[in-house]
Amino acid sequence: MTPTISKVIFVALVIGWYLIRYKYARRSRRARVVRSARGPLETALLLISLSGLGLVPLAYVATGMPRFADHSFYPWLAWLGSFFAIAALGVFHLTHRALGRNWSISLDVRENHELVTEGIYRRVRHPMYSAFWLWAIAQALLLPNWIAGFAGIVGFGTLFFLRVGKEEAMRLATFGESYRSYMERTWRVWPGIF
Ligand code: SAH
Repeated sequence: MTPTISKVIFVALVIGWYLIRYKYARRSRRARVVRSARGPLETALLLISLSGLGLVPLAYVATGMPRFADHSFYPWLAWLGSFFAIAALGVFHLTHRALGRNWSISLDVRENHELVTEGIYRRVRHPMYSAFWLWAIAQALLLPNWIAGFAGIVGFGTLFFLRVGKEEAMRLATFGESYRSYMERTWRVWPGIF
């Protein structure tokens, strides 16, 4: 494992994620959105997350900047990061498969929206966020730069903590009692931990 291979693995993670998302985004586009939480805050959160998980680390891979924030490279950390990257893509794929046409990038309710409680949603309410946390950890382990490496944890963390409460309130308003009992038997992000 070398720093170059480690960066290539990070880029492969971004491409893999894009390919999975592209396939499902095309399918879900056909279902009409009937309610949405889109607005300036939601757009800002999406941009912050996109910068932290994508723009900042990809700019670093392309240019090596910001060089002052470089730190030593340890192959075993990069190996661990590769493991997290593969896990992130696997979980990401399963969440899209389970949500199907109910998915959207923002907090939307679609026509005939069904509450998904099976597959990877059986024990965890936000497994797509679990996948993004795995990505953010992979990024910190793969990129030997304090800023590019940790941008994902900061960027996605901002979206996560400012969005998840509102997201659950919106789903409670849509699905009522069935979401409440779903909340009681599931974890937010990781079974047994959070
Ligand atoms: N927070 C979720 C999904 C984020 S994507 C996760 O981490 O897995 C957001 C979109 O997915 C929203 O439009 C929402 O309506 C939809 N969604 C999220 N969880 C859902 C569920 N259990 N059933 C149906 N739709 C869901």
